[in-house]
Amino acid sequence: MKYVSCEWIENGMDFDVGVYGSNIMMCCYVSCPGGGNIMLKRNFDGSLIDWKEFWKIKNSYRNIQKSGETIKECTGCVYLHQDNWSQKNNIKSIIFDHFTKCNCDCVYCYTHEDKAKYNSLKNYNVLPVIKDMVAKGIFIPGGQIGFGGGEPTMLDEFEELINFLIDNNFDNISIPTSAIKYSPVIERGVSLGKIHVQNSIDCGSRETFIKIKGIDAYNKVIENMRKYSKVKSENDGVISKYIICPGYNDNKEEIDKWLNTCKNIGIRTVVISVENIWLKGHRRDGNSEVIKLVEYILNKGKNMFASCKGENHVMQLLAGVED
Ligand code: SF4
Ligand code: SF4
Repeated sequence: MKYVSCEWIENGMDFDVGVYGSNIMMCCYVSCPGGGNIMLKRNFDGSLIDWKEFWKIKNSYRNIQKSGETIKECTGCVYLHQDNWSQKNNIKSIIFDHFTKCNCDCVYCYTHEDKAKYNSLKNYNVLPVIKDMVAKGIFIPGGQIGFGGGEPTMLDEFEELINFLIDNNFDNISIPTSAIKYSPVIERGVSLGKIHVQNSIDCGSRETFIKIKGIDAYNKVIENMRKYSKVKSENDGVISKYIICPGYNDNKEEIDKWLNTCKNIGIRTVVISVENIWLKGHRRDGNSEVIKLVEYILNKGKNMFASCKGENHVMQLLAGVED
């Protein structure tokens, strides 16, 4: 049936555990002008889900879109688009948003303000629910699976969860990682072309790593990313990212070291971003040194890597677009 909607309204869910509690949300997109944050189930503790109740709530939102209206919280969202949406009650896209554990302490992360609090939040194992969803034919391949919040490899169930997904033909799994801990299942998923693993290293030296990440683990991260990259020679699924953080790593010397190290360890895809708080305050700053650095990386990186690109909001900044 053709109407305007998004893949999260139709076939998505977000398991969210953080300082605001443990809930199942429609999506994880917090920058929607309408507010986003649509709640599908409050105070979720990992118990098996009553699917009749779940679809009653989810379909009440889908019906708004079907009627030609827009869900209030989704007003103005960039993800809304016309499509021919399936009317089946399936979940295809899931985000596991846990803010409960990380072995890093990045200066730009919102967990930085109180790391101990975030690292002590209570979590639950989601695998029993995922198994129930697959057994009932509710969760099917075809969408995107991702993680947000803390460090996925520190979750107790991480290896088992990802192995289960791979074994059940889910093949579009994105894993952002600090890469401090090596994960055999990431290696397996990369070798099968089912996992994209992204590490935001943000530097080219141990000294800058310590300043930004609050931990002395640069060599370990490089070693682990080298291992992931080596799994497959033609591998674009191992991604290194550089978030320019003014005052920490905004110089060509650091950037050159990063680019050269990525090249040396076999990475084929690099991504550029800019620290969010700085970015929000400099939307009109068309000639700043930071923007020149982004252009420098894009120009240099395109000759060194199979793919070198800026994140969407960075490209908008370059193009002078405000969102
Ligand atoms: S339209 Fe935007 S805010 Fe609404 S569910 Fe989709 S991604 Fe989330
Ligand atoms: S690795 Fe991610 S979750 Fe951990 S501190 Fe850095 S930005 Fe935050």
